[in-house]
Amino acid sequence: MTNYEVVIIGGGPAGLSAGMYAARAKLKTVLLERGLPGGQASTTDNIENYPGFPEGMPGLDLTMRMLSQAQRFGMEVKNTDVLSVEELPEGGFLVKTFDGEIAAKTLILATGAKSKPIGIAEEEQYRGRGVSYCATCDAAFFQGKTVAVVGGGDSAVQEGIYLTKFAEKVYIVHRRNELRATKVLQEKAKSTPQIEFILDSVVTSILGKDNVEAIKVRNVKTDEEKAIAVDGIFVYVGKEPSAELFRGFIDMDEWGYIITDAKMQTSRKGVFAAGDVRQTPLRQVVTAVADGAIAAVTAEQYLEYKD
Ligand code: NAP
Repeated sequence: MTNYEVVIIGGGPAGLSAGMYAARAKLKTVLLERGLPGGQASTTDNIENYPGFPEGMPGLDLTMRMLSQAQRFGMEVKNTDVLSVEELPEGGFLVKTFDGEIAAKTLILATGAKSKPIGIAEEEQYRGRGVSYCATCDAAFFQGKTVAVVGGGDSAVQEGIYLTKFAEKVYIVHRRNELRATKVLQEKAKSTPQIEFILDSVVTSILGKDNVEAIKVRNVKTDEEKAIAVDGIFVYVGKEPSAELFRGFIDMDEWGYIITDAKMQTSRKGVFAAGDVRQTPLRQVVTAVADGAIAAVTAEQYLEYKD
């Protein structure tokens, strides 16, 4: 069994940046990722606010560059699902994966966050039949059609704007009268003719034979309910951490985000966390890569001084 100095779980920007810093510091490093490296950022059509790219950059291109940069310094990548992590009595950690066991002197947890569902009964039934959580992945199926976006944050508004490249009409359904999204995005959406806002409203059900054909929307102020014909629903009601695997292993906050200090140390010595999975005031690519760098440097210091 290979004993790595650094095992990174999760291949989004936080994990990739941690991998680059750790490998560049000549630590034997492996990154474990169940899907394609890149994480949520790789499904973002255009990342406009990552410094150094004034025209913006497709998320996939940016994260693929991060991957090749980390690999150039010697980071290994294993495509596998992590089943459990535990601390060994003699020190260090054991990571059980779908493809076998890996020994680690330090762990960097960078499993990110995932889309939250709206929480209505039919949502799961219509997933992939008109209900989507990723406009970059699925927008092209809605060429010339009508879609609804649920949510009022940056993701909902940004992806709503993106969807107008394909859909003829985009409703943005938000539960309050005011959007949470930043002003610049709000203004852009409000000046996009294909977008219509349905405010103070929640989606109460999804209708359709096999695929989505309509949504029922209830105005929370008047209680009035109406059906709106749509071919698709894009859900952007926030994120939740992908940290279930680590419950009981390290401390988390009430929402399940991993608690770290400013050096990305968790409640367990030798275990660090970085990016969207940790309790942090901002979840962006730029903060994830910064977290990853700090976690790797702290891991390096830990390995040097732990004995
Ligand atoms: P978010 O900011 O948490 O917004 C979630 C939205 O969904 C809110 O408007 C919320 O309504 C609504 N919502 C939550 N639960 C709901 C439910 N069950 N039913 C209906 N609506 C519900 O999430 P996000 O937009 O995914 O953004 C996450 C983070 O990424 C944020 O920090 C954001 O700034 C960042 N981000 C930045 C960019 C960018 O800079 N361009 C792009 C995307 C994301 P309320 O407003 O009423 O709470």
